[in-house]
Amino acid sequence: DIIVKDVSHTFSRSGIQSDVLKGLTCQFSASDITALVGPSGSGKSTFLSLIGSLDRPTAGQIDYDGQDITKWKNRQLSTFRAQEIGFVFQQFHLLPALTVKENLLVPLLKQKTDFNKEDRIAEILEKVGLTAKQSALPTQLSGGQQQRVAIARALINRPRWILADEPTGNLDSGNGEMIFQLLLDLHQEEQCGILFVTHDLALAERADRILFMQDGQIVEDRRKQTVRSV
Ligand code: ATP
Ligand code: MG
Repeated sequence: DIIVKDVSHTFSRSGIQSDVLKGLTCQFSASDITALVGPSGSGKSTFLSLIGSLDRPTAGQIDYDGQDITKWKNRQLSTFRAQEIGFVFQQFHLLPALTVKENLLVPLLKQKTDFNKEDRIAEILEKVGLTAKQSALPTQLSGGQQQRVAIARALINRPRWILADEPTGNLDSGNGEMIFQLLLDLHQEEQCGILFVTHDLALAERADRILFMQDGQIVEDRRKQTVRSV
């Protein structure tokens, strides 16, 4: 689990301080898909980057399985990120000069893995439905296909968590739906927790839980009602 305790974040720019996150406390379970929603500027991306250890909070604590990562050294954090977290962004951020398969190989290069890298690449390409495109360059793919490569890349190391910042934000509704469904399937198959930011309330409603953010605070934490059959 991830336990966020009283996390605050302040950006200072040309002497002006802005308190972007104001004492957030919450907990995430890897068995959930959690949606993070809220107005533009409410701090969703900042919160996700702190959870993913891309930045350190100004105050507060973020525990992964009981260990406070905000106290870790940068080197320890980069190993942790590479092994435990997969990031997906609105812009796909693929390496344009590399083929699909090579893009998937990059995160494996420095890793010691207990699995065969070639087998894993083949497996994940199959799961995202891009086996036939493995030798293509990113520019030869549609937006939805590029995002599927980005998701495959995020998952390649078998991370415990996927953190996705508006993964469907650059896609039309059909492709957005496909990407969301893929995340739902991979959550089950790969057994990773998923935290995603979205502006699409219809997608958020399909998550197990929705956190509503406003002005740097969590204003509502809603869990999907489980329908019990009698
Ligand atoms: P959106 O829905 O538009 O993506 P968001 O909820 O993700 O918005 P953030 O990107 O987290 O919002 O930004 C929250 C606030 O922090 C904004 O006021 C933004 O201007 C500010 N901010 C974000 N990153 C920085 C930075 N690197 N330096 C200074 N201010 C920043
Ligand atoms: Mg954002």
